[in-house]
Amino acid sequence: MTSPRNKPDKLLEGVEVDKVGVVKLEDTRDTPIYEKTRSLLPDAKSIIILALEVFPEVVKYLVSERKVGEITLRDLYNRNAELVSGRLDWEAYKVIKALHGAGYKGIPLPASGSPLDNRRIESVLSYKHAAQIAGLGVFGWNSLLLTPEYGARVRLSCIVTDAPFPPSTPIDEYNPCPECGGACIKVCPVSAIKQPEDGETFNIDKYVCSTYYNYAGGCAECLRVCPAGKTKTAQVMGK
Ligand code: SF4
Ligand code: SF4
Repeated sequence: MTSPRNKPDKLLEGVEVDKVGVVKLEDTRDTPIYEKTRSLLPDAKSIIILALEVFPEVVKYLVSERKVGEITLRDLYNRNAELVSGRLDWEAYKVIKALHGAGYKGIPLPASGSPLDNRRIESVLSYKHAAQIAGLGVFGWNSLLLTPEYGARVRLSCIVTDAPFPPSTPIDEYNPCPECGGACIKVCPVSAIKQPEDGETFNIDKYVCSTYYNYAGGCAECLRVCPAGKTKTAQVMGK
């Protein structure tokens, strides 16, 4: 039996994603993440967050208008996002196989299709909050996770495990929203996003957003216009 239970951090060395973060569950005791995670795995000690970028070349096609029968280039984004999600789920699978080999447990939370509480429009676990605690990025005024490298163009998957990984470091200094001034607020077709009040990170009416999202068959205008994390490629493509 393989049982090197003392060095779980080595188990992430071969992960092929753009960013990896770790939350030490004990550090989240004052947040809903703690109980939600323990409800999934009572002896959970860590949450691993994996992130991959969606390519900037397709983000520019994320317009919310869709006319029956017409080609919609938004599907280019959708297919790329599906590919990225599948890749994240595969990398999570590989991590959990490695965890099993070292004598630990792991629960994969998929990049898309995570169990959702439709009454509150809440996932079984907030990947974005976990990613923020793990230092992958910060919350923007559009309520999305903004990473310094890719802005909001990232998808996430998580692994809940009883392995005691060392936590990654939060980032505090990154805050692109004041300089941007609220492109997401201006573009939202249903004014679901408001300027945050003092002490708020974001101010979004998720019911108004989700009602429009379902009506329009999807919307990501607040992602499309977000300048955070602009890459050279994104600038070339006129994002
Ligand atoms: S569009 Fe601007 S204000 Fe909105 S989240 Fe992005 S950087 Fe922040
Ligand atoms: S997804 Fe669309 S409706 Fe929802 S907040 Fe963003 S721009 Fe507004």
